[in-house]
Order: sequence, then C-alpha cells, then structure tokens
Amino acid sequence: MKGKNDCKIVQDLLPNYIDNLTSEETSDFIKNHLAHCNNCNEIYNKMNLKLKDNTEKSTNKEINFFKKYNKRLFLLKLIIVIILILFITFTARKMVIISNLSSKAENIINSDNYHSIEYGYNYGQYQKTEKYQMGDKIKLILSNINNENFETITIYTKEKISEDNYGSRYLANIYVKNNQGQTAYLNQNIGIMVELQDVLQTENIWELFKNSIISSITSTKINGKSCYFISNFNGYNNFYPAGVYIDKEIGMPLSAVSYEMDTLDGTKTYETPKEFLYEFNTVKEDDFIEPNIEEYKINN
Ligand SMILES: [Zn+2]
Repeated sequence: MKGKNDCKIVQDLLPNYIDNLTSEETSDFIKNHLAHCNNCNEIYNKMNLKLKDNTEKSTNKEINFFKKYNKRLFLLKLIIVIILILFITFTARKMVIISNLSSKAENIINSDNYHSIEYGYNYGQYQKTEKYQMGDKIKLILSNINNENFETITIYTKEKISEDNYGSRYLANIYVKNNQGQTAYLNQNIGIMVELQDVLQTENIWELFKNSIISSITSTKINGKSCYFISNFNGYNNFYPAGVYIDKEIGMPLSAVSYEMDTLDGTKTYETPKEFLYEFNTVKEDDFIEPNIEEYKINN
C-alpha cells in the first residue's frame, strides 16, 4: 500500500540507499517504491547527481594536491642535486690543488743542491735550523737562543756511512758554540733527520679524498708570494694541521702553525708561526769550509 508515510520513509532512507548502506529488504522496498512514485524518483535522481558531483569535486581536489606535491618534490630533488654537484665540484677542486702542490713538492724534495732555513719563536725561545746540501755533503746549523743562553751547533758531514728508510748516517765534525765556550767533536757517527718534506703527501687517493672534504683551502699571499693557506689537513707528513701556507710555485711550506692553544681567558690563539726559506742551486764548495779548529777545545 502506497501512502504519504511510505514517501517520507523512503526519502529519509535515500542517502543511505545511495551509499549502499541499507539492508537487502529495505533496498528492495525502496527500489519498488521508486519504480512507482514519480515524486520520490525525482528526489532520488537529484540526490544521486549531487552526490556524484561532490565526489568528482573532491577527486579533482586530490589531483590538484598531488600536482602541487609533485612540483615541490621535484624542487626538493633539484636542490639536493645542485648541493651534491657543488659539493663534488668543491671537493674535486681541493683534490686537484692538493695533488698538484704535492707533485711539485715531490720534485723539489729530491733536489741535491739547496739551502733551507726554518725558524720560529715560542715561549721566549728562538730556534733556527739551517741546512746546506750539495750531493752527499751537508752543513747543518742548529741555533737556540733565549734570554739567558745561546747555543749554535754546526755539523759538517765528511762521508755517508749508511742509508735506510729511517734516514742517512754520516761521519761528521760537530762544532758547538755556547755560553761556556767553543767545543769541537770530530769524526762523530750521527744521523741527520732534517729533510725537505712534502707536507701534502697522502698515502692513497682515499686519504686524499677524505682530506679534501675536511680541509679548507684559500688562495692568499705571504711576503709577496702567491700561496694557499691550508688548514685541517691531516696527511702523515703534515706537522701543521692548524694551518700551513704552501708556496704555489714549489709546493713547499712558507709559514705554518702547529697547534691552536687555549689562553688563560678561554679564547683560542695560534702558536707563533714557523717560517721557511728555500734557495735552490746556490750552494757552493765554499759553504763547507770548516772553522779554524785552533779556536775550539777538542772533545772526542
Ligand atoms: Zn513516494
């Protein structure tokens, strides 16, 4: 029996019916009613259309959201790629600079005629190491000066006795000048550890890569000479991790600081830099003329 009551019930149930939430029996009842009631059928059609429309709108919203999201994801990927390219470029640049300087130094340290000076001033003590080398002949001058004392040790090699991985041993005459006077030690068997060093040497390409990442390199000048200031470089030959100025032309250190130090007020400071000087192919026979032995007390 159809009546106004049926219509009310059906119209109340329509939203659930469209969403397939009604039971089988109720659905059959509604279907049956809609087939015979134009009024309810019209309402059903309108409701159905509106709902479909809403679903489409929200689907479009979702699509728009994903489009925006994809755009952002693309930008993020682009930024990551750019950062990676910059990182690789900077690291590669440092690797090239370090290996170029290192190979220049490798050539220099094999020189058989050079004069080198290393000096520094620390804790009131002035220290200077000067070396003349011509073939197997060496003159080494070690000076140490402070307020109360001075000492200069000059070593002349006479002949090379042995050579191994740890260095060379020589027969040498040693002349010592200090506050107490002048003493000579003749025909001593000694090792000489002072050598030119390639401070940027690395064991392998992996060590070079690691050091290139962590080290910082800036181009600068010292006493008119073009050089690189390199800090945080931990090569096994580099005694100056706090920072070393490397001559661009020869790959050798010009100035260097070994350590950062804490001062009493808590700030950081560097020790006074060591300075280096080099001359190549200037050493002559005259540089190896020994002092007048009569001025020295002989001590064998
Ligand atoms: Zn009806």
